[in-house]
Amino acid sequence: MWIGIDDTDSPAGMCTTYIGAVLVQQLEHAGIRVVDTRLVRLNPNVIHKTRGNAAVCIEAVGDLEAAFELVAACVEEFAEFDDPQTNPGVAVSPTRPPPDFYYTALRDFCTVDGAVRVLESAGALYKGYKNRRGLIGATAAIASEFPDKTYELLAYRKREVCGTPRRVDAGSLFRADEETYPHTWDTVDRENGVVVCVPHTPDPVLFGIRGESPAWVRMARSFVRSEETACEQIYVTNQGTDAHLIAGSIGTLREGRSYLVGGRVTGSPKTGLGGHVSIILEDDGAEVRCMAYEPTKGFREVVRALLPGDIVMAAGSYKGGSLNLEKIGVVRPANAARVRPPRCRVCGKRMTSAGRGKGYKCRTCVERSHNPEVEQIERHIRPGWYEVPPSARRHLARPLARGVPLWEESLFQSIRECGTPPL
Ligand code: ATP
Repeated sequence: MWIGIDDTDSPAGMCTTYIGAVLVQQLEHAGIRVVDTRLVRLNPNVIHKTRGNAAVCIEAVGDLEAAFELVAACVEEFAEFDDPQTNPGVAVSPTRPPPDFYYTALRDFCTVDGAVRVLESAGALYKGYKNRRGLIGATAAIASEFPDKTYELLAYRKREVCGTPRRVDAGSLFRADEETYPHTWDTVDRENGVVVCVPHTPDPVLFGIRGESPAWVRMARSFVRSEETACEQIYVTNQGTDAHLIAGSIGTLREGRSYLVGGRVTGSPKTGLGGHVSIILEDDGAEVRCMAYEPTKGFREVVRALLPGDIVMAAGSYKGGSLNLEKIGVVRPANAARVRPPRCRVCGKRMTSAGRGKGYKCRTCVERSHNPEVEQIERHIRPGWYEVPPSARRHLARPLARGVPLWEESLFQSIRECGTPPL
């Protein structure tokens, strides 16, 4: 059976993955064998999300009705029902629904009615609380498939200390990263000298270690020194896979979806109030503003190094008319040149314009010229991929430490060969 849970937390506390971890223990105690635990990230642009738009799926073998009773009781015990924005949903299905609903919830928007239709045709037992919105995430979780996957080990706090400052030794996290990177990632942000894997929100998560296999996340965890944990759970997840990205073109972007697009830089990068950096990309007559916000720190230098004429690929969410950058592929930097009036052959002074289309004249002699001085500018940006630092990374964004997915790399290559996006 496939068990889905979502929308149990609020900004004041709780976390759906914690309920998942508790449930794993309760199911096993009741003689229901757990075979898989999935942490499923959905569309990061959904406005109702509390934090990272996560849902949980537990695959198990045993009595369906007994499992449903346990799941509902567990959610009723732990979910933050008092928060008006918390609308839990639980589902237990004897069959796995087709993955279409998952892909829509991951890359687009769904309705509760749509979720109910999927659950009905799967023959699932389900329950939606309050406005039942959580059924969307619960259904997407049980319908999920991961063509690419990573792992996260989540360590949870004891109930009595929740809400107090977390005690995790930062040095031990840097050590864990040193010993296991690039097989684990986003434990710390070396470039900015900060810990990434310890949340600051009042939920039960103490820390989370992300990596390529259960063995690697366990190995990294073994270096971590911290307060005593209540329990720990390893989830298989779509985090760090770019599963949210749609191969798009600039003229067809839709609000609230995430894309990978190709285009040509027009105009110079601009640094606005608060240190946010923007560039305009153009393709086939359509333009989009791409934003590198202040929290992306050193990544903004990459964006600032772009020049008009550069051919790039940009990945990110399209929100409020801008593409919020997660990474950039520099496909072909433009040949940049500085063009200015030549020096006078007679007196050596720099000439001035003689008027539009009339070349240059020397103010001192009568000398004239039609050939400007062209100086090639050395480009410091090299073709390749550049990403935001771990501290600014979206859960679903694939770190470059994992390599670039084949479909992204083949788009990159075809743009390099054709000169323009082939979309
Ligand atoms: P946490 O990460 O701490 O578990 P959260 O960020 O996952 O919290 P939720 O409390 O689960 O946030 O709220 C997200 C809500 O949005 C859920 O009710 C979920 O069913 C719904 N939802 C998720 N994806 C979509 C989507 N693509 N379209 C419409 N609703 C969605």
